[in-house]
Amino acid sequence: MEKTPYDMAMAQLDKCAEIIKLDPNMHEILKYPKRVLCVYVPVMMDNGKVKVFKGFRSQHNDALGPFKGGVRFHPNVTMEEVMALSIWMTWKCAVASIPLGGGKGGIVCDPKSMSLGELERLSRGYFAAIRHIVGPQLDIPAPDVNSSPREMAWFLDEYNKYLGYNAPGVVTGKPVEIGGSEGRGEATGRGLSFVAREAAKKLGIEFKKASVVVQGFGNVGYYSAKFMEEFGCKIIGLSDSKGGIFNPAGLSVEKVMKYKQNTGGVQDFPGATNVTNEELLELKCDILIPAALENQITEKNANKIKARLVLEGANGPTTPKADNILYEMGIMVVPDILANAGGVSTSYFEWVQNLQNYYWPYEEVVQKLDKLMVKAFNNVYDAYTRYKVEMRMAAYICAVERVTKAMKLRGWC
Ligand code: NAD
Repeated sequence: MEKTPYDMAMAQLDKCAEIIKLDPNMHEILKYPKRVLCVYVPVMMDNGKVKVFKGFRSQHNDALGPFKGGVRFHPNVTMEEVMALSIWMTWKCAVASIPLGGGKGGIVCDPKSMSLGELERLSRGYFAAIRHIVGPQLDIPAPDVNSSPREMAWFLDEYNKYLGYNAPGVVTGKPVEIGGSEGRGEATGRGLSFVAREAAKKLGIEFKKASVVVQGFGNVGYYSAKFMEEFGCKIIGLSDSKGGIFNPAGLSVEKVMKYKQNTGGVQDFPGATNVTNEELLELKCDILIPAALENQITEKNANKIKARLVLEGANGPTTPKADNILYEMGIMVVPDILANAGGVSTSYFEWVQNLQNYYWPYEEVVQKLDKLMVKAFNNVYDAYTRYKVEMRMAAYICAVERVTKAMKLRGWC
C-alpha cells in the first residue's frame, strides 16, 4: 500500500530521532500537532441553495514562534494530509532559522467549478470559522495550492472586520497594495537560485557556466530558471505539463515564456528539440531542478539521472527509494524544505514589515533573502558533513535540533 504523507512524515522523524538520539519524550510530542480544527462552512451558492464545505487548520508546533503555513483549496484534501503538511512546515521554518512554527490549512472544494462570488463567500466563511485560532502572534496563513493573493485579501478583510481594526500580519502572500512584500511573488525561485549557487561551490561546479534543466515552468520553475540564467547558467532544458524542450546551446527563458504565453506550451520552441518529461529528467546536465509535482524521480528512473546536483523546487519530487539511489550514486539532492524555503522566508519578511508598519524596497528584500538562504544552506551542509548523511536528513537534523532546543528551554518536557 502507498505511504500516506503522514506515514512519510513519521518515518522521516523516526529516522532523524534515531540518528541524533532524540529524547523519546520530545519525539512523542513531535509526532502530533498541538491542535487540529475541523470546520463546516455553509456557503450560499449561486443557485440559491446552501452547500456546506469541510475545512481544516492544523497547528503542529509553535516552540519557535507563531504557526505558519498555507491554505489549500482542493477536492482531495484530507485532515491527515493537512496534519502532515503542518509538520513539514515546522521543519521548513526551522531550517530557514525563522522564528515561526508549523501550520497548514485545507478546504475540501473544487475551486475550478466555483464562481468568483462562491469562492469569496467560501474564503470568508472559512476564515470566520477559524478566526479564534489565527492572528499575527498566533497563526499566520498564506497561499498554497489553488489559493493566491486574492484569497489572502479576503481572509485579511474578514479578520479585520472581526477585530474592528487593521492587522495585516494575520496572513502573508497578500497583494503589495494592502501590506504584501515586494519580491514575494518570485521569492521561491529566487531563494532556490541562491541555494544552487552555494551548493555548486561545494561541489566544484562553476556556477556561471553550469548547465541547468528545469521540470515545470510555473511560478517556481520559471523564476528558478530566470534567476539562474541571470547568474550566467545555461538553461538547456525546460518543460511544462505537455512536455519539454532541449537545446544544448542554451534557451532564453524570457523567449520561451513569451512563446508559452502565445501557444499554450513550451514544445516546438524554435531551435529546440522536443523531449518528453521523462527524457527531460535524464538529460546530461550539471543541475536538475524538478519544480512541478511530487514523485517525479523514483526507483525506476533514479539510476538514469545524469545531473551532479538536484535541487527540489517542488515539494516531494524525489521518493525515499530514489533518494537512496541518488545518494549511492554521489548525486547531491538539496531537499525541498531547504531548496524552496525562499517563499516562506519572504513571507516572514512580509510579516516583519507588517508588524513594524515600515516597508522595505525590493533590493533590500532580495539582499536579506540571499543572506538567509546562504546561512540555512551552510547550517545544513555542516550537519551533512558532521553526521555523514544525505542532505535531506541533514536538513531534518538541523530542524529537529532547533525545535527541540526551543521546546526544552520552554520546559515542555
Ligand atoms: P504552478 O502551478 O505555478 O506550476 C506548475 C508547473 O508544473 C506548470 O508549468 C505545469 O505546466 C507544470 N507541470 C504540471 N504537471 C507536470 C508534469 N507532469 N510534468 C512536468 N511539468 C508539469 O506551481 P508552482 O507554484 O510553481 O509549484 C510547483 C511546486 O513547487 C509544487 O510542488 C509546490 O507545492 C511547490 N512549491 C511552490 C512554492 C511557491 O511559492 N509557489 C513554494 C514552495 C513549494
